[in-house]
Amino acid sequence: METELELFKDSKRTMLIVDDEEVNRLLLGNIFSNDYNILEAEDGEMAWSLIQENKGLLSIVLLDLMMPKMNGFDVIKHMQSDPATAQIPFIVLTSEKSMEVESLRLGAADFISKPYDMPEIIFARVDRTVRFFEHKQIISSVERDELTGLYTRRFFLKYCELIDRFHMESEMDGIVADIDQFGLLTEIYGNSVAEGVLKSLSDVLHIYAGQHGGIAGHGEGDVFYLYVIRSEDYEKLTKDINERLRADFPNANIHVRLGIFKRESKSVGLVDVFQYAKIAGDTIKDDYQASLAIYDQQLRETTLFKQRLIHDINQALETEQFVVYYQPKYAIKGERPVLCGAEALVRWIHKDFGFLTPDKYISLFEQNGLIQLVDRFVWKKAAFQVKDWENRFGFTIPVSVNASRIDLFDPQLSETLTELVESAGIEKKNLHVEITESAYSEKQETMINAVKKLRESGFILEMDDFGTGYSALNILGLIPIDVLKLDMSFVGKMHLSPENEKIIEIIMNIASVLQVEVNAEGVETEEQLEKLKTMGCDMVQGFYFSRPVSAEDFEEIIKKEQEAGK
Ligand code: C2E
Ligand code: MG
Ligand code: MG
Repeated sequence: METELELFKDSKRTMLIVDDEEVNRLLLGNIFSNDYNILEAEDGEMAWSLIQENKGLLSIVLLDLMMPKMNGFDVIKHMQSDPATAQIPFIVLTSEKSMEVESLRLGAADFISKPYDMPEIIFARVDRTVRFFEHKQIISSVERDELTGLYTRRFFLKYCELIDRFHMESEMDGIVADIDQFGLLTEIYGNSVAEGVLKSLSDVLHIYAGQHGGIAGHGEGDVFYLYVIRSEDYEKLTKDINERLRADFPNANIHVRLGIFKRESKSVGLVDVFQYAKIAGDTIKDDYQASLAIYDQQLRETTLFKQRLIHDINQALETEQFVVYYQPKYAIKGERPVLCGAEALVRWIHKDFGFLTPDKYISLFEQNGLIQLVDRFVWKKAAFQVKDWENRFGFTIPVSVNASRIDLFDPQLSETLTELVESAGIEKKNLHVEITESAYSEKQETMINAVKKLRESGFILEMDDFGTGYSALNILGLIPIDVLKLDMSFVGKMHLSPENEKIIEIIMNIASVLQVEVNAEGVETEEQLEKLKTMGCDMVQGFYFSRPVSAEDFEEIIKKEQEAGK
């Protein structure tokens, strides 16, 4: 650090001397004129305007308190109201003993007593202050985030430690604030607006920390931290944030969410405090009704459960705790429903938790990419199962497997599946791939290209959960698909109103224009089946025929089908 300051060694710093007595200005000027460029002001008003004009340049202000027009106290108030001038050190010039301590209380770096009879001492004191502040500024430029002026995460955590050490008795809470869809906001409004939003938010947090006892920090992107003395009213903070953002950006609908971790015991480390606060905040992601979430016992259990599943996955794959279930699909165009395929659905028989359905872990594993391991396991089992049934029953049952959006990012996907069907000895057309409609909501082009490649290579593609995603009709024609799987919510609501039925009919029409088959999911009653039949639906799947069952139980379904077909 010393070396950086050496760069300034030969350049002159700038000093402002403020005193209404000309003789005082002269005396001080003489002391410093060899080493400093001197600016002079004879009253407070002039001083304040010179400070504003030269704020980037001033190394120090020597300030008299008693002056006409505007006194020194008001100059200090003005300086402290603007972050850019607040960081300029000032030294108070005073002839009254009582003002010495008072001036330090006001934030002065030091004081100089009149009369100025010891020039060497005055020079040494001022020069030392200037250097001290320069060091401090260099340190704080590392401590503080350039954009918002808040502590960077690293220093924020260090200061939290200090707070803990010196305020053992205070109950502190960790808060993480972030902005929903900040990436999208940046895309729509541009960088400078996005930065403005970060600044406004950081202002509110900074003020809150100051008023309630605590500190604020800024992490990556739109993530902010607060470590504050416990309050029962964080609603007020969310209100302040919303009001400020609404005032500064009236046209942008900005949603800031706060996740709060109430630190009951210091045995929870600071890094964990903010991780748990973040987890709490993430539970209200994209929920515009909710602005704050507190990490509670239930969330704690869910988090531990999830951590446990992530921890256990490899062992579970090795010891075959994952099992593939199959749900039959029936073609309903003809006289009687005919078994025409099956969907492979994964189940985890966890060694401690028992039977786990996919809703417990699919989206968790999608978040961290582990889903690829599970999917490959399922695909392989399914492919070999098709072969096994072919061998034993002389009956080919095409099986569809689910592929996650994450799988589509793998450039080797098509090759991997091709090798798999080859090693199992089945035809590509007997391993269908289901991809949920919502996979196309982002990075559409990448998704569509991946799907195209699969289809060109000979796999049959089904669009899963149709009607729940965002793909909208405009891209439907662009996505290569063979089967459209109508989401089960449509079938479930079909009986509620004629409009609901009409919607299904419209989807059927679209499918026929696109020349794709329709598979209706979630058929539970005979009535639903009959309705769908009259609408021209090709296939159905649902509890009416069978729940997903183990491979062994599925063999009973095959046998029954063979009986019926005789
Ligand atoms: P999905 O692919 O849409 O699968 C259909 C889900 O609906 C299955 O739930 C199935 O058990 C359920 N279902 C079938 N018929 C009926 C019915 O008549 N009524 C009702 N209420 N439900 C019915 P499951 O097995 O819990 O799977 C849920 C989702 O998890 C799947 O939805 C799929 O998106 C995902 N999933 C399952 N296995 C895998 C897998 O191996 N890999 C990936 N990536 N995702 C999977
Ligand atoms: Mg599916
Ligand atoms: Mg589905």
